[in-house]
Amino acid sequence: MKTFGVLTILLIIAVSQVQAQGLVIKSKQNQEATTDYTVGCGSNDFMKHLDSKISGYYDFANKSMTEIVKNASNENYSKSVDSIFVIPVVFHIVYNNGFENIPDSVIQNQITVLNNSYRRMNSDTTNLRPIFQNIVGDAKIEFVLAQTDPEGNPTTGITRTYSEVEYFGGILPYGSGQNQEITDWVNDSLFYNLFRITNDTLGGINPWDTDKYLNVWVGDLRIFEPQFNNYEEIVYFGLSTPPIDHHNWPDSVLDVVNIYEQGVILHYINVGANNPNSFASPYNAYNGLVTTGKLLVHEVGHFLGLRHIWGDGDCSVDDFIYDTPNGNAASQWNCDKTRNTCVDDIFGIDLPDMVENYMDYSSGNCQNSFTIGQIEVMQYVLNYYRPDIANIEVINNIVDNQFYMDIQVYPNPTTGVVTVIS
Ligand SMILES: [Zn+2]
Repeated sequence: MKTFGVLTILLIIAVSQVQAQGLVIKSKQNQEATTDYTVGCGSNDFMKHLDSKISGYYDFANKSMTEIVKNASNENYSKSVDSIFVIPVVFHIVYNNGFENIPDSVIQNQITVLNNSYRRMNSDTTNLRPIFQNIVGDAKIEFVLAQTDPEGNPTTGITRTYSEVEYFGGILPYGSGQNQEITDWVNDSLFYNLFRITNDTLGGINPWDTDKYLNVWVGDLRIFEPQFNNYEEIVYFGLSTPPIDHHNWPDSVLDVVNIYEQGVILHYINVGANNPNSFASPYNAYNGLVTTGKLLVHEVGHFLGLRHIWGDGDCSVDDFIYDTPNGNAASQWNCDKTRNTCVDDIFGIDLPDMVENYMDYSSGNCQNSFTIGQIEVMQYVLNYYRPDIANIEVINNIVDNQFYMDIQVYPNPTTGVVTVIS
């Protein structure tokens, strides 16, 4: 008999402390299952983990978020000369078997999904409900596979590393009846285990300069549970490290945060919309998020400062963004457009729950938008919290023809004064 979801339940208690941050769906794929099955994004749990390691982290992060939102609205979005942020990306494929060694075509497809999503060029934007039309926009962020490695050599932007590690979530040494031991193991080990993928000496691969590249590590993030009939548990589909406020956080906080490499970690199933691994059970139960490439869109949102749209709490908890409607919980991997779980007042309107938003846990089949408030935050983070990671390209609008000028920007990257030569 499968012990489906046993560790998941404990994880909710151990990691989240407060409530299930992940999604709860009926485990359709296993008739023997007796419990709900929870999988989600680990980014907020990771922030709680940091908070458990050093008291005050979450408060510091929330104060930073408040500051970002306050400053961001006037900074970037409306400019006479439009800037496009172009982020070089390196995918680190860390594999133990051929399935995990996903082909270049899947990674290239993922880049396309990112660019379509962050430039609002995806064809499904037409599915956005009219009530949201005035609050969404083009994030003006693009992604390219890195063309130069940290040593200045040409690269495909993809590294491939064979690893002896089969499960980056780790191997659970405990069985049923050892609930406290499992809880302690999760608290002590889970994020350490996952971040092994970012370390050469622990079976992963070291990042490229995290200030200058978006590092995306891809591997098998499951936990192996030999004492639960060799169950392989999906805990997180992916997670991202949130931005660091180098200016205002004390060294005591930075010392803890800096242990973890900056970037995104993804379960290999979730890369691209053409991933051959993602369409079989159990992943097909997640109704689009893992088969559309939208998970990395979501995780990069976290990397650029965004929180989940429901605020990881009930209606009293906000995501700090002024134009996103509150929700009392994550959407359940679906596209339910009937829900309006919280009363809010956004420009005078009580907007319904926004399943179209990339920062929900809705199906990828209905995610198609960032709000302008979210875009302002991401651009602000690129300017002030991750100032060296994006190259800036300028779009010059002349008469009614819009074209990209061939320009050079010096110094590049920079946060200071730039000289533009066309
Ligand atoms: Zn998330």
